[in-house]
Amino acid sequence: MSSRHPHLPLPPAVAPDWALFLDVDGTLLDFADAPGDVAVEPGLIDTLAILHGRLDGALALVSGRNLAQLDALFAPLHLPAVGLHGLERRDDGHVEQHARAPALDGVLASARALAAKYPGARIEDKGIGLALHWRGAPAAEEPLHEFATSALIDLPGYHLQPGNRVIELRPDGANKGAAVLDLLALPPFHGRRPVFVGDDLTDEHGFAAVGSHGGFGILVGSRQPSVARYGLHDPAAVRAWLDDSIA
Ligand SMILES: [Mg+2]
Repeated sequence: MSSRHPHLPLPPAVAPDWALFLDVDGTLLDFADAPGDVAVEPGLIDTLAILHGRLDGALALVSGRNLAQLDALFAPLHLPAVGLHGLERRDDGHVEQHARAPALDGVLASARALAAKYPGARIEDKGIGLALHWRGAPAAEEPLHEFATSALIDLPGYHLQPGNRVIELRPDGANKGAAVLDLLALPPFHGRRPVFVGDDLTDEHGFAAVGSHGGFGILVGSRQPSVARYGLHDPAAVRAWLDDSIA
């Protein structure tokens, strides 16, 4: 199978002095029509467990999912993780979280009523925020965008974060890059060369953060422009690269 990337060179193998930050959906895992339908490939959990050991614990998942979802997907692993794009963070068992806006319940109900008109569209309650998905319903893109924009009026301190066939209503003050920098200040991440692997627009914050600390980004897929230095074609290529790194 080819893992060639259209714009960027292939990354070197994972080195023992790295701190490795891995996005999940579209990076480790192939997309599914619904976020709950993703599958964790056999062997990926074993590979991550081995890498976590070889990096002396300096391997973290950095995702838009919440920590509970990440733990369920990658059980029995309990890896260091950044959830909800930085609004939840866990280093050694210590969890930090933002609070949910009271107005979010009303916005959630309205969003679900709207999505019900577009079979395949889905509203995901992320606890402190919402994700409006149209991967299964392209016609829902415009109405969900308009709804999310107008919902901001009821949600001071929130902003819109566009993603891959999704838009999120999210509290201000957190992004994947800031969360990575927080982790880099702590053991076991501190003092290592940081490397961030991700596919989405939100991962550019992570690429910039590691780039400012002597590391580099690895882009998954062909989205451009990107500040990533290396590229991998798709999640299957990421999994093959990780497997090759521990072989
Ligand atoms: Mg992703």
